[in-house]
Formats: sequence, structure tokens, C-alpha cells
Amino acid sequence: MSQPDKTREPPYDGGCLCGAVRYSFSVPTIGARICHCRTCQKAMGAPFLAQASFPKTSLNVTGETARFRSSARLWRHFCGICGTRLFIEPVDAPNRIGIPIATLDDPEVIRPERHIWVSEKLDWVRIDDGLPQHPKASPVPYRDI
Ligand SMILES: [Zn+2]
Ligand SMILES: [Zn+2]
Repeated sequence: MSQPDKTREPPYDGGCLCGAVRYSFSVPTIGARICHCRTCQKAMGAPFLAQASFPKTSLNVTGETARFRSSARLWRHFCGICGTRLFIEPVDAPNRIGIPIATLDDPEVIRPERHIWVSEKLDWVRIDDGLPQHPKASPVPYRDI
């Protein structure tokens, strides 16, 4: 029986808008968060970033991405053809990689678990999903890889 409000089991497949870059994960996410920080807003061109993270070793990817270092601790990858934002790669946690949930083929399969950096949230964004909200980084670590 499906549970529409819960994260579903892997695999998780996704990719960019033009199809040049495809990715797949065969393991569960180690954390799914909605980040409201100003850097994510700017980098994504969106009011927030809903992101799911995985062990980097579990990533299967085809196609090439370009990347930009948005801060000392983060590379942000994107398709050089269509511009879709893809992988979020922490420099200080090289065994971890994130993807925007919206780039999944079925973006409903992974459900966010918490909001982070709500201190930088846009004023008109209303949160009524009942998830925990944290003013800055998550006090809850990623699950074990
Ligand atoms: Zn593309
Ligand atoms: Zn952020």
C-alpha cells in the first residue's frame, strides 16, 4: 500500500530539463531538508531549495555537469546546456552529495523532513507543513552513510 505522505523506497531517478544529465540513487536518502538561506535562494533562482542528500558513492550519473563554488564549503553543479541545477557537493563532507528534490522524475517520492535557515526565509513564504524549523543549520545530523 502506498503512503503518499512518506518518502518512498529507492531507487530514485532524475535529471536535468534537457536530458543531457541523468542520475540515479539506489539507496535511501540520509536527509531531506528545505533550505531557506540566501545563498540557496540566489543560486537556485528560487525562494528556497528542497534538497535530498545521499552517500556520494551511491550516485550513478551520466552526462557532464558544470559547477560553481558558491561558498568555501560548497560546489553547485548544473547542466551546461539547459542550466538546470543538479548536484550540491559539500567540500567539507566529501562522502556526501545532494540533489534538488524537484529534479527527480517523480518529485513526490522524497518528502522533506525539516526547514533550515528559516532566519533568512522570504517573508511571504508561509510554512504550514508541521515540519521542524531551524533558524540556521540543522541541529540534527545527516543519518549514517
Ligand atoms: Zn540539461
Ligand atoms: Zn542554503
